[in-house]
Amino acid sequence: MNDFQKLAELLFPNITKTPDDYEKLYPPRNLKEGARVTRLAPSPTGFLHFGHLYACTISYRSAKSTDGVFFVRIEDTDQKRKVEGAVEIMLESLAAFGIIPDEGVMPDGSQKGAYGPYIQTERKEIYQTYAKHLVEQGFAYPCFCTEEELDDIRAAQESEDIKGYYGKYAKCRNLSYDEIKANIDAGMTWTLRLRSPGDVNNRITFDDMIKGKIEMAENVIDVVLLKTNGIPTYHFAHVIDDHLMRTTHVTRGDEWIASVPLHLQLFRCLGFKPVKYIHFATIMKEDNGGKRKISKRKDPEAASTYYISEGYPAASFNEYVMTLMNSNFEDWRRVNRDADISAFPFSFKKMSVSGALFDMAKLNDVSKNVISAMNADEVFSLSYEWAKKYNPQLASLYEKDKAYATAVLNIDRENKKPRKDIAKWSDIPNYISYMYDETFTPCYELNGNATPELAAEVLEKYIDIVNTEDDKETWFERIKSLCAPCGCTPNVKEYKQNPDAFRGHVGDVSTVIRVALTGRTNTPDLFAITALLGEEKTKQRLKAALEYYKEEK
Ligand code: GLU
Repeated sequence: MNDFQKLAELLFPNITKTPDDYEKLYPPRNLKEGARVTRLAPSPTGFLHFGHLYACTISYRSAKSTDGVFFVRIEDTDQKRKVEGAVEIMLESLAAFGIIPDEGVMPDGSQKGAYGPYIQTERKEIYQTYAKHLVEQGFAYPCFCTEEELDDIRAAQESEDIKGYYGKYAKCRNLSYDEIKANIDAGMTWTLRLRSPGDVNNRITFDDMIKGKIEMAENVIDVVLLKTNGIPTYHFAHVIDDHLMRTTHVTRGDEWIASVPLHLQLFRCLGFKPVKYIHFATIMKEDNGGKRKISKRKDPEAASTYYISEGYPAASFNEYVMTLMNSNFEDWRRVNRDADISAFPFSFKKMSVSGALFDMAKLNDVSKNVISAMNADEVFSLSYEWAKKYNPQLASLYEKDKAYATAVLNIDRENKKPRKDIAKWSDIPNYISYMYDETFTPCYELNGNATPELAAEVLEKYIDIVNTEDDKETWFERIKSLCAPCGCTPNVKEYKQNPDAFRGHVGDVSTVIRVALTGRTNTPDLFAITALLGEEKTKQRLKAALEYYKEEK
């Protein structure tokens, strides 16, 4: 036994497995050529940031578009940040956006797949096996430096270019076996550090699939691989896990680019083939003419739960995220209106290098389009599911008469040019409020040429002739018939040519009726609204409005 082997036994007496055992346990995946294995690796803080969803969508889409595998691994090595129940909350949020992992930690907290466990704190023995192996190879050593000693190193390095535990600062790098043993026997705690084979004069290059070729200094820092409690750091766990889980592409925020030289070095020391890296820029938002990161503290839209509680359908959200991800998506969508989003040839190369801009107005527009293309049954059932949890009042209105609710949602829908009023389910209560007495708030403000005097005259006559059983043509003829007796013209063109000759035109007459029935000057199809309200409500509202305008005059 050489000294490295002796040291490995001293540090990890209970580890009896070897890397070979794990290589056999987790063999290369049997997937078709070009299939990508990707993952989301959240830390269980309970907060699923928009950035996570974005990262996840990229990973998910790239796996799906190649018939690969997308899995979820929980990175819970930082116990201080751990929040109870957080994993379930995060995975439920993902599921709400239609992202169900093929493998790994599932929304109900169970684990699925042959490459687990998928929770890092359950993988301690695996990390230690590889750590032991690195010690045997001379690529790792125990470090006994205290926090104070490390602080001193930091203070001494203030004016140096390279900061960290390396070179002359790496006090424990060359301790002998006997010195180490004496420290351990004395009960000193240790972290395990990489004995970096890097050279300060070397540069390395790698290809990032978004940013292209990147050249950086080789890693020379003896980073911590295992903390004093034997739990790995992110760096060590990332390399071991993504190797053993046979990940092919790692998609993560570009704050990790600085660590790539270290990660590539770790892959090399461990004898692993490196993964491909895709580092995406943080999503930004406009603020006061400038750009800044979306902030968990300042922006409600930073939290994935925001989109769920506001009631953005998964389809809208995914459609919008795709526009952020690939600049050519919208052109593709224009040509492939009805195609499933997964048919889009998603490409890393088309991702923004500097960071896509989050735009709420755009999200709403995209979502209005998506919702306008849904049929009434779909709008009803999705918004009903949402309402049960987030708006009980809407849910109970729906429950009074589901067929009526569906018919209301069908106004100006399922036709060639559907209206685009609803961006999210939370828009519905206001959008349909006048269709229910419980939520109708009269408002008799008029616009255009409609005055209270005209309104009183129109309503007085309309009450006598309105018939909610009419077909659309008859209904409109009746409205037109009110025009002349009230000094208006049924012909808008005629009015425009000679405005002084009339009090208004058929549009103004309709406005009077619209306002009386809905409290608004702008609504979807008034014919459909009248027919659905039915005779009793219609007459009642027309009368109430008439009373109001009579007093106003
Ligand atoms: N747990 C890391 C994070 O949440 C994951 C980074 C990665 O995807 O490798 O930032």
